[in-house]
Amino acid sequence: VKILAIESSCDETAAAVVVNGREVRSNVISSQIALHTLYGGVVPEIASRKHIEKINQVITQALEDADTTLEEIDAIGVTYGPGLVGALLVGVAEAKAIAYAAKKPLVGVHHIEGHICANYIENKELEPPFLCLVASGGHTHLVKVADYGKYEIIGRTRDDAAGEAFDKVARAIGLGYPGGPKIEKKAKEGNDKAIVFPKAKVAENPYDFSFSGLKSAVLNYINGCKMKRQEINEADIAASFQKAVIDVLVEHAVHAAKEYRIDKFAIAGGVASNQTLREAMEKACKERGIQFYHPSPIFCTDNAAMIGSAAYYEYLQGRRDGWDLNAVPNLKLGER
Ligand code: ATP
Ligand code: MG
Ligand code: FE
Repeated sequence: VKILAIESSCDETAAAVVVNGREVRSNVISSQIALHTLYGGVVPEIASRKHIEKINQVITQALEDADTTLEEIDAIGVTYGPGLVGALLVGVAEAKAIAYAAKKPLVGVHHIEGHICANYIENKELEPPFLCLVASGGHTHLVKVADYGKYEIIGRTRDDAAGEAFDKVARAIGLGYPGGPKIEKKAKEGNDKAIVFPKAKVAENPYDFSFSGLKSAVLNYINGCKMKRQEINEADIAASFQKAVIDVLVEHAVHAAKEYRIDKFAIAGGVASNQTLREAMEKACKERGIQFYHPSPIFCTDNAAMIGSAAYYEYLQGRRDGWDLNAVPNLKLGER
C-alpha cells in the first residue's frame, strides 16, 4: 500500500510517500522557521499563507523523489488535527482536492499518532504493545500503545509542554526561536549541576507532568541575578534547566514501564531529537532491561513520513474519510 501523506499543522509544509507504513520513499519538508524567527514564535496567519504558497510544490517534489505518480498512489493521508486551524485547513483542503480528482481514498490522521508512528519507520521490528513518551511543542503525553491505532494516555502535562518550556527558557536567556536545539547546544558548554531547579511532581497522577513551575524558577533565577548584579551564565542555566526536564521525563518513563510491565519504550516529538535526552533514556532503559526506541531527528520534528505511517495503519483498519473531513484544532488522541 503506497500512501501520499500531507502535513501542515504548524510551521512546516510537508509531503511524503510511504509504503506499507514503514518504508519511506520520499520525505519533503519546507520549514518556515526562518520566517517565524523574526517574531520569536509561530505567527498563525503567516503560517497559513506560507503553506498555501508551498504545498503544491512540496507534493510534486515528494512524488518525484519517490519516482512515482498520483495514479500509483493507493490513498491520501493527511493531518486534520490537532494544530493551528488555518494551517491544518490548507493540508486538509489540498488532500481532499487530490483524493477527489484522482479518485483515491482519503485518510485523516491525528498529528500525535503520526509522531508516535515515526518510531515504526526505522525500527522495523517494533510492534505494539509499547509505551511512548511524546514530547513536542504542544504536547507532553505518556502513551500506552496497546495496538496499532489504539492509544491510552496514562500521563499528560498539566500546563506547559516540554518543548514549550524549552522555547520559553530559550527566549528568557536570549537564545531565540526555536528554543530546543539552541538550549541543547548552549547546554554543552555549561555545568548541569550549577543550579538546582525544582523537579515538579503532580500530586494525584504519578505520570502527569508540570513544566510551568520550572520555567518560573528559571525566570526567577535570572531576575535574582539581575537584582544582585550577578553575571548570568546562560550555558549553566541551559544545562541545569535541560537536566531538570530530562530527569523528570526519564523518571516517569521508567516508572510507567515498571508499573505497566511493558519492556518496550519509545520517544517521539521534537524534544525526542535531543541527544542528551536520548542518552539518558537509553541508559535508564538498559539498566532495567527495557528495549529503547527512537526515531532519527528528522522524523522527530514535524514531517509527513510519520503521517504516512500512521495513515497506513488507519487505512488497514478501514478508516476512510469523506469530503466533509474538516480541520479539528483540538482533536484528542484516540477520537475520531
Ligand atoms: P505538536 O506536535 O505538539 O503539535 P509541534 O508540532 O510544534 O507541536 P514538534 O515539531 O514535534 O512540535 O517539535 C517542536 C518542539 O520541539 C519545539 O518546542 C522545539 O523547541 C522542540 N525541540 C526541537 N529540537 C529539540 C532539541 N534538540 N531539544 C529539545 N527540544 C527540541
Ligand atoms: Mg514545527
Ligand atoms: Fe508536531
